[in-house]
This record gives sequence, structure tokens and C-alpha cells, in this order.
Amino acid sequence: MTQQTVLVINSGSSSIKYQLVDPAAGTSLASGLVERIGEETGHIEHKFGDVTREIDGPVPDHGDGLRKVLALFDEVGPNLHEAGIVAVGHRVVQGGKFFSGPAIIDEAVEQKIRDLCPLGPLHNPAHLKGIEVARELMSDVPHVAVFDTAFFQSLPDEAATYALNKEVAEKYQIRRYGAHGTSHQFVSGEVARFLDRDDLKQIVLHLGNGASASAVVNGHAVDTSMGLTPLEGLVMGGRTGDIDPAAVFHLVREAKMEISEIDDLFNKQSGLKGLTGDNDMRVVRSRIEAGDADCRLAMDVYVHRLLKYVGAYTAVMGGLDTITFTAGAGENDSDLRRELCARLEYTGLKLDQEKNNVRSKEARVISTPDSTITVLVVPTNEELAIAKQAMTLI
Ligand code: AMP
Repeated sequence: MTQQTVLVINSGSSSIKYQLVDPAAGTSLASGLVERIGEETGHIEHKFGDVTREIDGPVPDHGDGLRKVLALFDEVGPNLHEAGIVAVGHRVVQGGKFFSGPAIIDEAVEQKIRDLCPLGPLHNPAHLKGIEVARELMSDVPHVAVFDTAFFQSLPDEAATYALNKEVAEKYQIRRYGAHGTSHQFVSGEVARFLDRDDLKQIVLHLGNGASASAVVNGHAVDTSMGLTPLEGLVMGGRTGDIDPAAVFHLVREAKMEISEIDDLFNKQSGLKGLTGDNDMRVVRSRIEAGDADCRLAMDVYVHRLLKYVGAYTAVMGGLDTITFTAGAGENDSDLRRELCARLEYTGLKLDQEKNNVRSKEARVISTPDSTITVLVVPTNEELAIAKQAMTLI
């Protein structure tokens, strides 16, 4: 069979990340990043095989950025048509209640993504910039939107509904949409495949700079920690996660803060960053080893929050078969996994300390054979997941 590939695009407000993926083989052929779009000097990095080509210079807008990327595919390779491109897959954070799966992008879908900007103000406008220019510059292949919220559209009403005034919630579409759904769907699917079992009660902990937990029963999400926006839930690199909403009223009344300032405070200046000054878990870890009390407290708060979600989701599912760690810190921070699992020993969970300490890019079990709960590390691969979802519509 001839190779079929998907160019996966994740467009941010001043960046475009991309990867050319062969979904059937599960491999990446080329990848790159355009950064600092619209600033004085931009930066482009394109990787193909052993070659990395970097360009510094102004990239005035997303259209210019993508044009330069397409030129790099021609110059450095691989040639997109020879590589068998059949679709472009676009990551979209907020799909609201409209999208419970991927969608071929036409005018109507693009308009829906635009209509959802108030619910995804930090992400959807940036995705639209990428979608608009990509559809124009690569009009010979279908473009598919893959939504971070889609996996959680099937949440039971009891999990998706806030106990907020019904009229207000309906009028302003306030409910739990979740996020990181592409990763939770991919990782929970990999766990089922790896253990060769479909009948699993799973908790997936996606612990990266953004962090979220999900409860998945027999392949269907039944709860997740991110809410109306990715702000709710776990402690994150820069986000508070759960916090009493009355803190907002207090800051408005007492500190006279503007909503935009509180938005920035809760989304960017809090979490690990707010507690320690650093949002990078590696730095927080090394400061703990040096005896830093702020960092120790931050990790304790982080693990305490995780523990509460694991307990809550076990109760929601009426049991628990697997806990899976994924994303930057979940995949790499063995101390974090050890600290959480130590707090769960009362359940009969037993971590295999040696396996926990092994570094690997492969999916693996890190609990002992007699552990009541199977603990796994499964690397997430959102680009591959997006490419696979895009292929289902081609
Ligand atoms: P992501 O958003 O998935 O790219 O994950 C980023 C987060 O993973 C950052 O907080 C990193 O510090 C963390 N991370 C990456 N590698 C490690 C590591 N070896 N140990 C601890 N944390 C790590």
C-alpha cells in the first residue's frame, strides 16, 4: 500500500507547531515550529531525518509562517506529495457541544469554531488563523478539525452539569467541556490495547505543563478535571486548578483587580509558578533536593490534589483497575509517581520501585503483579492521535 500521511498543525496565537505523520505506521516523518509570529524576529525550525534547518527573521503573520514552512518541505524535504499527504489535521481546543468527533472543515465548521471563541478565548482565535491560511495554501487536500473537548462530549449529565442557575448556565453555555481529550482518548485506548482488555475502569493522569485527570469506563469518559476552560482541576505549571470562585469576588472588592488581571493571575501566574517562581517541574524537583521549602509545599499541594481526584474518580466509577501517567512530568518524573502511589498503598496498590525508575519511551506497567491496581506509564502522542482521527474521515 502506498504511504498516506497527515500534516498535523497546532496553531497558537504567535506560533505554528507541525508534524507530518504516517498514522498507519505510527511514525513522524518531519516536524517543526514557527515561533514569535508578528514579533520583530521570528524563528523557524524544521526537522527531517538528521537535518535540522533553522531560520531567524521576521514572520509577520501566520500566512507568511506557513508559506515558509511549505518552502522548507520543498527545499529540505520531504516533498509533501511524494510523502503521500492526504489531509491536514488541525488541533482545536474548544468544540463546545457541537463536536463529539473530528470534522471535515468547510465554511460552516469554520464558522462554528469562530462562534465558539467566547468559550475558548485563549485558543480558538489562534487556531482559526492557522486553519484559514492552511486551507488557502493547501486547498488540494481535506482539512480536518480534531477537538480537545470531543472525547468528553459523552460525559454523563451529572458530571457535565455545574450546580449553577439553570437559565444562566444554558444561556451562556456554561458546563464541563474538559480538555486534553485527544490525549485522554489516545492513552486510555493504548492502555486497553496494551492490557488486551476493554472492560477497564481507568484513571488517566495527563501531567504536563497543563494537567488533567479523567475517569474512563470501558473506553468512555465519565468524568474529567478540566471544566468550562482548562483552568479547573489539578495544579498546573501556571494555573491554579481548583480554587474557590469567591477568591475572584474578593480580589475584585479588596484588590480592585480587573477581570483580565485575575484571568492572567489564575491562568499564568499561579500553580507551580505562583507557589515557587518556577513552572518547570524539573526545576521544582531540583530545588526540593536542595531543601527549598516553597517547592516542597508546592509538590505536596500538587500530590494532595491528585490524590483527591484519584479517590473521587474511584468512587464515581465504583472501583479502579488502572492508573496511567502520561505527558512531560507523568512520563518522566518517577518521584512524582512514587509520591502519589505511596499515598494509595492502603488500597493494595504496590509500585515496583525498579520499574518505576526505568526511563523509557515505551508504554509499560510499573506496579507489581500482585498490586490491586495496575499502574502504567504510557507516552502520549497527540499528533499521532490527531492524524489517526483525521484519517477516519478520509
Ligand atoms: P508537557 O506539557 O507534556 O510538554 O510537559 C511539560 C512538563 O513536563 C514540564 O513541567 C516539565 O518540567 C515536565 N518534565 C519534562 N521532563 C521531566 C523530567 N525528566 N522530570 C520532571 N519533569 C519533567
